[in-house]
Amino acid sequence: MNDRDYDIIIIGGGPAGMTAGLYASRAELKTLLVEKMIMGGQMMTATLVENWPGYPGGINGPDLMARFQEHCVEFGLETMTGEVEKIEDLGALKRLTIEGKDYQCQALIIATGANPRKLGIEGEEGLVGRGVSYCATCDGAFFRNQTIAVIGGGDTAAEEALFLTRFANKVYLVHRRDELRTTKILQNRVFSNEKIEMVWDSVVSGLSSDNSGLTSIQVKNLKTGDERKLEAVGMFVAIGVNPVTTFLNGVVAQDDSGYIKAGENTHTSVSGIFAAGDCRTNILKQVSTAVGDGAVAATQAEKYIDELAHS
Ligand SMILES: Cc1cc2nc3c(=O)[nH]c(=O)nc-3n(C[C@H](O)[C@H](O)[C@H](O)COP(=O)(O)OP(=O)(O)OC[C@H]3O[C@@H](n4cnc5c(N)ncnc54)[C@H](O)[C@@H]3O)c2cc1C
Repeated sequence: MNDRDYDIIIIGGGPAGMTAGLYASRAELKTLLVEKMIMGGQMMTATLVENWPGYPGGINGPDLMARFQEHCVEFGLETMTGEVEKIEDLGALKRLTIEGKDYQCQALIIATGANPRKLGIEGEEGLVGRGVSYCATCDGAFFRNQTIAVIGGGDTAAEEALFLTRFANKVYLVHRRDELRTTKILQNRVFSNEKIEMVWDSVVSGLSSDNSGLTSIQVKNLKTGDERKLEAVGMFVAIGVNPVTTFLNGVVAQDDSGYIKAGENTHTSVSGIFAAGDCRTNILKQVSTAVGDGAVAATQAEKYIDELAHS
């Protein structure tokens, strides 16, 4: 094995990782981007992205990510499919284990994003793919002319509920509070959509199923204690995300929720390791902020490598 396989290794092929890859390879640094699934990250499940500048009228997530991917390899970025299982800080070098094989680099950029949060109720896991889903874009079309429920009250829940009205006869939007935490424009769209019925102040208390899958959802009103059965055969959970950081195993400092502690400059607690996008402690988790982080992380990594060479 070489002392130094790459100048920079980037973990994660979402908007943050791909932007970091574009900047690093354009700076002529030998850079590898490792992605465990398909390139594009969470955006691969986004139907319409209306807040990415330059696309009036919006663009769908996979189309936007295809353009990112085409662009990020333009300057020679190397990409590989594989899951990073472990990282180690060896001082001037960082070591990664990718599916049993070791790789080394001078600077490491972690851009592993986030995963949808589960409700954590009985039966949920066993019904994934048989009524329970975390991705409306992926699974919405399976529920043509049926009744379904979306759980959550933020932008993603509202967007998913609206999207699902294309297929379903009826969409319950179940939210634990008495108002949505979304932009005014989304609220107006939700409230004016005849297919959407709001189920306020409520949480999912149980799931019923038969051999074919989910048959109904039990919800409990937190204010009155009343239970209600929603005759829904689909349940889309949209209650937020968890950072994908368990593989870090304490190498860099994380907050109580698992987010990597890193400020605007993307520096982590370890010199030469940077964190970009949804996996770090930031106040807004969007494509635009992930892209900004990717650019900052790559330029900070470049500066770090330069300083190493002169130390
Ligand atoms: C349904 C949906 C709709 C959205 N709509 C919008 C929108 O309209 N506008 C907007 O701005 N934002 C939207 N977002 C949020 C946006 O997608 C995220 O903020 C953005 O994707 C974060 O980018 P990221 O690169 O930090 O992480 P991610 O997109 O999560 O990418 C991280 C990548 O790292 C990979 N990875 C993780 N662990 C490893 C490992 N150990 N080894 C190798 N690879 C690994 C993952 O497979 C993933 O591809 C939406 C999100 C969702 C889920």
